[in-house]
Amino acid sequence: MAGLAVSVRLARFEAALEGLARKDRRRRLEPREGLDFASNDYLGLAASPRLTAAVQEAAAHGVPVGAAGSRLLRGNHREHEALEAEAASFFGAERALFFGQGFSANVALIRTLPQRGDLIVHDELIHASVHDGLRAARAEAIAAPHNDATAVEDAIKAWRARGGGGTPWIAAESLYSMDGDHAPVAELIAIAGRHDGFLLLDEAHATGVLGARGRGLSEGFESHEALISTHTCGKALGCSGALVTGPAAVVDFLVNRARPFIYATAPSPLVAAAVREALRIVDEEPERRAALRARVDIAKRKLAALGLPTSGSQIQPVVLGRNARALGLARRLKAAGFDCRAIRPPTVPEGTARLRVSLTLNVDEAQVAALFDAIGEGLIEAAA
Ligand code: PMP
Repeated sequence: MAGLAVSVRLARFEAALEGLARKDRRRRLEPREGLDFASNDYLGLAASPRLTAAVQEAAAHGVPVGAAGSRLLRGNHREHEALEAEAASFFGAERALFFGQGFSANVALIRTLPQRGDLIVHDELIHASVHDGLRAARAEAIAAPHNDATAVEDAIKAWRARGGGGTPWIAAESLYSMDGDHAPVAELIAIAGRHDGFLLLDEAHATGVLGARGRGLSEGFESHEALISTHTCGKALGCSGALVTGPAAVVDFLVNRARPFIYATAPSPLVAAAVREALRIVDEEPERRAALRARVDIAKRKLAALGLPTSGSQIQPVVLGRNARALGLARRLKAAGFDCRAIRPPTVPEGTARLRVSLTLNVDEAQVAALFDAIGEGLIEAAA
């Protein structure tokens, strides 16, 4: 009898999955195989000896694996506080706050900071985490066309003209995760400043990679009072979590009001120790950024030879349109030993299924060249 009840309960999920199977069964957990052209471990730090040693040493000195509570209860550890102090100075911001995930950091910013009567103008391609934050946000939100600073400012002006009297918030990524293109950060900061608002800048894919000193695309604007940034630690920094940086008043407000911060177990203190080391590596090993740029240059040359557009960053989409084309090419690459994933709607807009080539220091220059040769062969065969 119990078995019957369970099967009735689960039937709706099975039916939904079957529906998906007819259209396109999208999500599968694939094993980690082949050369890494899919991870966000841009600087090759995730399994690096320095990060591993930092964790071992911290553990040997009694730093616990688990925080065992939220930061406001007993979960606050000196590793979190040391990381936040170092990160504020590293990013040149007044303060920093460590979250367990970039996703929850973005949700926290969007649902906590803008108040009723404010306006949120976000880029149309903004990350899913911001969309989830928007569902719980108090302020009115509108999407602006991708990377169009004029449209952002026009939206704010139109809202003011309609009587909008609150604070405007602009939400953008600095380096877009699926297109690899850059936001007009200087213009967006200037717009936020002109209209007494804020820029919420998600530096997820830029932290550690972009900027002469690896601070991200907002390097040079760090102490601007209109800037609040999310620096995720699970990509170029090779760890996990996220550092939100900005004015002290904003960080204090988050500590007091941001539910994803207040009601979550604090991140592992060992991970905080690892992120501290990752920030030191970004400072002490600029050659990693240079080596990544060299791989990007190879990709650019190869793409130009194939007559394909280039993003100019370590994230290179090869847009193929139909899902089947992207999946077919990814499968072919996999068989040749390259782990380069197909990205499909709804992660990217309908009709723009693509390969997302992610360049990291986990592959060498010859392997980068070989991947683009294989992509070129795949495209020629598919066209034949
Ligand atoms: N923002 C962007 C642009 C991202 O690509 C991601 C991760 N996919 C996140 C935020 C979420 O960060 P995390 O993985 O640390 O939760």
